[in-house]
Amino acid sequence: MDEVDVPRSHAARRALIDAYRRGPYSPARHLGFVVVFGLSVAALSIGLLRDLQAIELLAVPLHWIVANAAEWRFHRDLLHRRTPPFQWTYDAHIGHHRIFVDGDMAVAGPHEWWTILLPWWAIAALALALVPICGLLALAFGANVGLLVMATSMLYVVSYELLHLSFHLPIGHPIGRLGVIRWLARHHEIHHDPRKMRRYNFNVVLPLWDWVRGTTARP
Ligand SMILES: [Zn+2]
Ligand SMILES: [Zn+2]
Repeated sequence: MDEVDVPRSHAARRALIDAYRRGPYSPARHLGFVVVFGLSVAALSIGLLRDLQAIELLAVPLHWIVANAAEWRFHRDLLHRRTPPFQWTYDAHIGHHRIFVDGDMAVAGPHEWWTILLPWWAIAALALALVPICGLLALAFGANVGLLVMATSMLYVVSYELLHLSFHLPIGHPIGRLGVIRWLARHHEIHHDPRKMRRYNFNVVLPLWDWVRGTTARP
């Protein structure tokens, strides 16, 4: 069983949003920074490609799989286990789980997007952390591979943020009604069942690594 204290009533969960709120908030600036930063770094990386070979393009699907596995592991081991020195990532994520449970997944509006999205600076911190890794890949396999890994990573994070947001849209929102979004949202909603969140459905973008690791739960 999970030890996370998730309030039982809708009203008590909604009250947490006010309890967690810190100062004024601009959803447009928050999401805008993530999307503009991610797409700009991806575009810059793609713009720097030179004499691209077909074989080098393999870096894109291969790294997408690595990113999907990393998303799974980060979510399971850092967001659902209090692992020093990253206790704050656990606390922030558990806050998200205490507000939204299966059957009650919707935000009231954009002013609550901060309860869904990663901190605005997370994508910039990831890009910085990837610079030495992409540098090593560039040394080992050529500059194009390093650039493609950076671009794929940024597009992965932007898609993660947009998809996670779409899973928590108000009921009846046109984006949430799209077939593929509905299917992915159902996968994520099961993860929001407090009895399942520590063991199942860690992928948000596409549940590939959940399938590989056997952590896909049904309703
Ligand atoms: Zn969620
Ligand atoms: Zn989670």
